[in-house]
Amino acid sequence: CGVFGIYSREEDVAMMTYLGLYALQHRGQESAGIAITDGAWMDVTRGMGLVNEVFRHQLPHMDNQYIAIGHVRYSTTGSSLLANTQPLIVNYSGGKISLAHNGNLTNATAIRKRLEEEGTIFQTSIDTEVFVNLIARSRKAAVEEKIIDSLGQIEGAYCLTIMTEDKLIGVRDPQGFRPLCIGKMGDTWVISSESCALDVVGAEFVRDVEPGEMIVIDDNGLRSYQFAEKQKRASCIFEYIYFARPDSVIDGQSVHDARFMMGRVLARESGFKGDIVISVPDSGTTAATGFAYESGIQFTEGLIKNRYIGRTFIQPTQQKRDTAVRLKLNAIRSVVEGKSIIMVDDSIVRGTTSGKIVKMLRNAGAKEIHMCISSPPIGYPCYYGIDTSIRKELIAATKSVEEIREFIGADSLHFLSIEGLKQCVPKLNCDDMCYACFNSSYPVDLKQEHTADSDK
Ligand code: 5GP
Ligand code: SF4
Ligand code: MG
Repeated sequence: CGVFGIYSREEDVAMMTYLGLYALQHRGQESAGIAITDGAWMDVTRGMGLVNEVFRHQLPHMDNQYIAIGHVRYSTTGSSLLANTQPLIVNYSGGKISLAHNGNLTNATAIRKRLEEEGTIFQTSIDTEVFVNLIARSRKAAVEEKIIDSLGQIEGAYCLTIMTEDKLIGVRDPQGFRPLCIGKMGDTWVISSESCALDVVGAEFVRDVEPGEMIVIDDNGLRSYQFAEKQKRASCIFEYIYFARPDSVIDGQSVHDARFMMGRVLARESGFKGDIVISVPDSGTTAATGFAYESGIQFTEGLIKNRYIGRTFIQPTQQKRDTAVRLKLNAIRSVVEGKSIIMVDDSIVRGTTSGKIVKMLRNAGAKEIHMCISSPPIGYPCYYGIDTSIRKELIAATKSVEEIREFIGADSLHFLSIEGLKQCVPKLNCDDMCYACFNSSYPVDLKQEHTADSDK
């Protein structure tokens, strides 16, 4: 998921949030929502689909609106329900509170069970609602205290944007799994999952929210609270491999530079030779350019992507997914015919896309296809906010690299090693990252409770 928030007495906060969500669209295409307040009332517009579909006709509006939060959702199949869209709005003793969440609470089911036994009725199946209920039930006085009180009860990965009638609040979990940053323009404050959305609305990047930090923005400016003790950091490496946009900078590390480096290391590790380097657009392109740079082999466009369809994973059935791949990508015969091709992609999840692309290239006359993947094999599910239902079908959970090569029909296949991957984030301490979906080394102190309907 992607979250965004803005506090401004100058700008059209609903419009700015719309633009911000547009820039975060890659983080979720299933639903979108914007909540606004003018200090007295709160209103939300939510719907299924892309940002420009949900807000095709109108944005929420109040004459004196000055705070807004927004959300784009990416979730497990089966929970694509209007009821599960965000931001959520609830009443609490001090007024109204609205909340948008990116991540996955690993103890949400246990808390939900306890609250239900105590009489709480839930309207959605998302873990975010568990959290808003904790806030509403907290006996602490100030809203900041209620939130901190509730944060103490939850575990897992979460970045939150929260809005009350007079405050904009941002929260990042103690391990810092998911990204969240702060921007400013004039007296306007912005918080966003990724810095690319700050660029779009014209805000200057101020800093990242720290793991375990809560920031509160109101007319007095920004205040910071450290709500949890410093823990071992576990930034998600998959944000750099696939999820985030290459023009974003997360925790000081450019996503583009990390991906480019992944391609360079891939070239060194694989030693693959060929006539041309191509990518599976768009997610494989930055690494492919890094591969070409390191190997001296020319990068060319060999596959063309239809820009008018979303990510193929959204398709619920296998048959629909197959058609979607053909609809999405096509080979350029004049480029690939008779060539030995190095094809770079960011990851293999089910192996479906890769298998179809290999076949497509062969049909277009490719002589050899050497596939390079800029991540290690994904052998284990993620419990921290990247789609777990996809992970159940992980090809690398049951097949060896050689078996995967055979399955997708490539002449050779190389996955970036974890050691190689660690060289690609030089601005970060590579030991402060999560690699659990590659090595099953799940960050400590987190119960791996599987919640079917968590928010990504
Ligand atoms: P596969 O060949 O395994 O069927 O698909 C691999 C493709 O899926 C890669 O190009 C990669 O960019 C994309 N991918 C990897 N992880 C995810 C994910 O969590 N969600 C979506 N929508 N796509 C993913
Ligand atoms: Fe990221 Fe993988 Fe860790 Fe999940 S398990 S947080 S996808 S690195
Ligand atoms: Mg891709």
